[in-house]
Amino acid sequence: MGLSEYRAKRDFDKTTEPAGGEAASAGGGPLRFVVHKHAASRLHYDLRLELDGVLKSWAVPKGPSLDPSQKRLAVEVEDHPLEYAGFEGVIPEGEYGAGTVMVWDEGEWEPLGDPHEGLRGGSLKLVLRGERLRGGFALVRMRRRPGETRDSWLLIKERDEHARAGSDAELLAADAVSVRTGRTMEEIARDAR
Ligand code: MN
Repeated sequence: MGLSEYRAKRDFDKTTEPAGGEAASAGGGPLRFVVHKHAASRLHYDLRLELDGVLKSWAVPKGPSLDPSQKRLAVEVEDHPLEYAGFEGVIPEGEYGAGTVMVWDEGEWEPLGDPHEGLRGGSLKLVLRGERLRGGFALVRMRRRPGETRDSWLLIKERDEHARAGSDAELLAADAVSVRTGRTMEEIARDAR
């Protein structure tokens, strides 16, 4: 996908989001992942997985779950630059995605099998090693409905030792601070003023 759609949507004279350089070549090291909490016109979470020098990205309206019975809608969005993994701040009023962005989780991820085949074929199994999200997950692409311009996926926790039934309230409310800076959404917004 590349970063052209990402850049076309944003005015880097106005937003503090990174423009990103050339897509970095695969370093062979561990792959990063981040989950942003994003208070845009609608609050949502953004799952981003490093692959091929960019961050493959999905908007997850209800946020991720550690409960395997919860299938979370994850709408595929444009690739983001790798530098975006460290972005926390406020996208200004009037700009694309205006609102406060928090690093809600971050760490390393590992595809199980070939991730390119998984993304193409619509079934990607992966392991997340973050602070809040750990263990096996699956991303499963749904059939596109007429009129839909984006692919919708389901993000599902695998049954393993990190799965926790009924954990959502705890995940989404009690851990209401950035794993990177310890700030709440309000504090991030205040600090940007
Ligand atoms: Mn977003």
